[in-house]
Amino acid sequence: MNLEVPLVVIGGRGPHGLAWHLLMRDRGLEGSYALVDHAKEWLPSYGSRGPMQHTEFLRSPHEFDFALGAPSRSMHQWRDGQGQAPLANVYTLAQAEDAAFNEHDSSDVNRAPRKAFHAYAQDVAFKTQAHQHVIHGRVTCAEPKPDGWMIQLDGGRQIHARVILLATGIAPHRYVPERWRTWWRHLPDELKRHSFDGPPARSVAGRRVAILGSSNSSSWETALSYASLGAKVTLLSRHPNPVERQFPFPVWWVDPTEISAFAARPSVERLRILTKTHIPRSAVPGTHRRARSAGIRIVHHARVRHVSEVWSSAQVVYDVSAKPRSVERFDLIVAATGASPRIRDVPFLRAAAQTCRAPVHTSGPARNTPILDHDGRWKNLPPIYPLGAFMFGRVGYAALTLASATRVLPLMVDPILHDAGIKATRS
Ligand SMILES: Cc1cc2nc3c(=O)[nH]c(=O)nc-3n(C[C@H](O)[C@H](O)[C@H](O)COP(=O)(O)OP(=O)(O)OC[C@H]3O[C@@H](n4cnc5c(N)ncnc54)[C@H](O)[C@@H]3O)c2cc1C
Repeated sequence: MNLEVPLVVIGGRGPHGLAWHLLMRDRGLEGSYALVDHAKEWLPSYGSRGPMQHTEFLRSPHEFDFALGAPSRSMHQWRDGQGQAPLANVYTLAQAEDAAFNEHDSSDVNRAPRKAFHAYAQDVAFKTQAHQHVIHGRVTCAEPKPDGWMIQLDGGRQIHARVILLATGIAPHRYVPERWRTWWRHLPDELKRHSFDGPPARSVAGRRVAILGSSNSSSWETALSYASLGAKVTLLSRHPNPVERQFPFPVWWVDPTEISAFAARPSVERLRILTKTHIPRSAVPGTHRRARSAGIRIVHHARVRHVSEVWSSAQVVYDVSAKPRSVERFDLIVAATGASPRIRDVPFLRAAAQTCRAPVHTSGPARNTPILDHDGRWKNLPPIYPLGAFMFGRVGYAALTLASATRVLPLMVDPILHDAGIKATRS
C-alpha cells in the first residue's frame, strides 16, 4: 500500500485521533486525514488492558467529553445498550471549583466510570463512522521529506503526508526509578508487574501483593484494583495520604482562553510559571475510606531500597522514616510508578530528530519533551504537532488530561489545516 493523504494522526484511535475526526467531520473535511493505530478498539488506554485499567472513575468533568460543539454527542446525553445513562450526572468544571462539592457533596454518581466512558467513546466513534479513516498498523519510521513526511508502517506499507499529529500517548514511556533498575531487571517476571501492564496472568486471590508507589492517585487505584481481585494488598507509599479532590488541577488550567493566553507567553515565562506551580497529589474523594474498607494495609513514608527473589517470593527491603529497616516477602510486587514521556524514546522519530537537530527540553518541568514553536510544531522538522504530555511546556496541565484532546486540540486547528493545505468548507 502506498497512500497519499494531507494529514496523519499517529495514535489515531486515542482521544486526540477521535477528537480530530469529529472536528474534521463537522467541517466537512472527511477524506483529508488518516488515523493510524495498531489498536483494535477506540481509546485502548481506557480499556481493560490499558494503563488506566485500575482507574474506576475518571477525573474529568463532563466538558472534556466528545461533544465538541454537538450537544447530541455529549456524555450527559449518552445512553448505553440497556438504555441507562451512566454519564448523565458527571460533574462540571464549575462544580470542580467548588470546595463544598469537592469535600462533601460529590459522590460516585457525579463521576464518569472508566468502563462507561470507554463504551461512550466506542459509540461516538461508531455513530460518526470514524473507522472509515483508520489505517490499522504500527508506525515504524517517519522520514522527513521536502514536502512533509514518508510514514512507514509494519508490513512494508507507506503513507505520504504533509502533516503529522503525534498522539501516541504515555503508555510506551512507562517509568521505573533509576535506582531500582538493577534489581528490577534481575527480578523474575512472575514476581513483578508495572501498573500499566495488562491484568495478571495468574489469579492473585489470597496472594500477598505489594504496590510500590507514591501518594498519586494511580498507586491507590492499583491497590484497590488488586484488593478487588482478592489479593492481600500492602501499599508501600513514599508519601502521606493524598488530598481528596474530584479534579486534580485548578480549573483555569483547562479554560480555553487561559490555555491560549498561556501558550502565547514566551517559553521562558511558561517554564518559570510551571516550575513555581505546586499541584498537590490528589485522589478522588472517598479513596482512603475505600482503601480502609477493602482491608488494604498502608505503609506511609516507605522508601523501597531493594527487591530480590527469595524462595520464589519477592523479598522487599524498605525504610520507613527513623524506624529500623523492614524486610518482608510478597508473592508479587507492582510498581505504580507511572510514566516519564521522553520524545527521544519515540522509536520511529529518533532518526528524523537526530538528522534535523530537532530541539528537546533538557531540564526543567518540561524536560525530555520537544521544543515547540508558537503554534505547537516541533521545531526544525516538517510539520509535526506532538500532542498530550509532549505539549506540557506549551499548555501546562491541560496536556495531562482528556482536555488535551477536547480543549487544546480544537484551538490548534487553523495552523494545522494551513500546513496540510486543507481548506475548510464550513467552520
Ligand atoms: C493511570 C492513568 C489515569 C489517568 N486518569 C485520567 C483521568 O481520570 N482523566 C483524564 O482526563 N485523563 C487521565 N489520564 C490521562 C489520559 O489517559 C490521557 O490524557 C489521554 O489518554 C491522552 O491521550 P493520548 O491521545 O495522548 O494517548 P492515549 O490515550 O494513550 O492513546 C495513544 C494511542 O496511540 C497508539 N499508538 C501508540 N504507539 C503507536 C505507534 N507506534 N503506531 C500507531 N499507534 C500507536 C495507541 O494504540 C493508542 O491508541 C490518566 C492516565 C493514566 C496513565
